[in-house]
Amino acid sequence: MAKYDVIIIGSGLGGLLCGNILSKEGYSVCVIEKNQKLGGCLQTFVRDKCIFSTGLNYTEGLAEGQILNRYFKYFGLMDELKLKRLDVDGFEIITFHGKEYKHAQGDNNFVEKLSAEFPQERQAIQNYIDKIKNICHQFPLYNLDTNNLNVDYSGIFSESAFDYIKSITKNKILQNVLAGNNLLYAGVPDKTPLYLHSLITYSYISSSWRLIDGSYQVVKILEKSIKKNGGTVLRNSEVKKLVFENDILKYAELANSEKIEAKHFISNIHPANTIKMFEKHKFTKAFINRINSLDNTIPVFSVYIVLKENTFEYQNYNHYYYDNDTVWTTSSYSEKKWPQSYLLYTPATSKSDKFADCIIAMTYMKYDELKKWENTTVECRGEEYKEFKRKKAEIFLNLIEKKFPDIRSKIKNIYTSTPLTYRDYTGTPEGSSYGILKDFNNPYRTLITPKTKIPNLFFTGQNLNIHGILGVTIGAVMTCGELVGLNYIVDKVKNS
Ligand SMILES: Cc1cc2nc3c(=O)[nH]c(=O)nc-3n(C[C@H](O)[C@H](O)[C@H](O)COP(=O)(O)OP(=O)(O)OC[C@H]3O[C@@H](n4cnc5c(N)ncnc54)[C@H](O)[C@@H]3O)c2cc1C
Repeated sequence: MAKYDVIIIGSGLGGLLCGNILSKEGYSVCVIEKNQKLGGCLQTFVRDKCIFSTGLNYTEGLAEGQILNRYFKYFGLMDELKLKRLDVDGFEIITFHGKEYKHAQGDNNFVEKLSAEFPQERQAIQNYIDKIKNICHQFPLYNLDTNNLNVDYSGIFSESAFDYIKSITKNKILQNVLAGNNLLYAGVPDKTPLYLHSLITYSYISSSWRLIDGSYQVVKILEKSIKKNGGTVLRNSEVKKLVFENDILKYAELANSEKIEAKHFISNIHPANTIKMFEKHKFTKAFINRINSLDNTIPVFSVYIVLKENTFEYQNYNHYYYDNDTVWTTSSYSEKKWPQSYLLYTPATSKSDKFADCIIAMTYMKYDELKKWENTTVECRGEEYKEFKRKKAEIFLNLIEKKFPDIRSKIKNIYTSTPLTYRDYTGTPEGSSYGILKDFNNPYRTLITPKTKIPNLFFTGQNLNIHGILGVTIGAVMTCGELVGLNYIVDKVKNS
């Protein structure tokens, strides 16, 4: 039986980053991925020569000295990534009640640009920026501060994003514009905590970037460095069972019955799927019930549009479009009035700065709509499913047309993905976009720690800390910190 220091189950960003840290530190690591393609949500696919990213539209905090830049330097990513900074004066355009509002990069710029639209509300906008900045500063790993790791988060975790934003201004339009990037975290008014909104939104306000030619470049760089450090990366290898000897995990068994032994196991997959792999349960019933009863964030339906050549200009910003009186459309979701909002953008390519070759647009879609095909697999879901996708794409295009009236004449081809696509390509329950739904009402119930009751099993990935590139990066550092020491890694990051 092959034997390693660490087995990492899943090659999403979290798994690859853990593989990178630990292989650099001299551990023999084996990253095990069920798919042919590594990367989970960072996978891309190519149609008609266009590269489509599936789960990374834009990323944050990559300017010199900023937080993700510092982590990415440590991971050897900064020198190699092909990046394009989004428009500093408007990286997000929120269309609400038919009017456009811009989110700008930089604290002062953000306040100035929005105050120009809401002159009476300058103080409220300033208070908002000060508050979300202050919240970010209370999270030590968002500031690489190891002096203060034992923060009492109880107050911060219990604040509601929706209620806070509502409390700072009576202007309903401004309330919605401030929460206009809702699709980036699938916010739910009576659940989403303010800290989650703050960590995500403020990092993007610090600086926002596209990955030129898609997100797979991150995967390639990380895979290369794991292998260079002597690590192993297995594809087409689904972990089916985790087997104990006494009270510790002994080996992982793959779908082809191969067994691989390790001293430590890191699960980069959803905790509910991890605990399904145990033959005999070592977790308490209470823990299992908690994990199995947690809600996940709503999944998305995406359209991937191939454009006719030179018909649509590249747009160096993202569109958030709302056809509703609220940007919190997860709570007003109805099949009859679908879709109510979308995020749309033109990916950056090395082919042209002037014209886009494609468009990606996503909107929420409940898994229940796909129930009848839930026992099918990719490419084998039948004609009725294809017809469902075709109809949904048509309806979605009707909404996109409200903003881009001549879009249909520019389309060469259109491809779609549903929550089932995400379920099958990333292994996330019900195709959930961002994993476990955080809940300010009962925050500790929805928080997963890297350390588990099983001494040699750890969690990593988007379910741990926060989803998204920055959240998962910090989560990987927290997980590996359990093995090599958190201060030790943070010092290395600081000195990179
Ligand atoms: C539509 C969409 C848009 C997004 N947009 C952005 C964005 O603009 N900016 C941003 O920062 N973030 C964005 N995100 C979120 C971000 O992509 C994710 O939070 C992050 O990539 C998740 O990484 P992860 O490490 O948790 O692993 P995942 O990506 O969930 O990967 C898990 C991996 O484990 C593998 N696996 C599962 N089960 C097994 C098994 N039994 N054996 C072996 N392997 C297994 C899967 O195949 C997969 O490769 C988006 C996500 C989605 C879905």
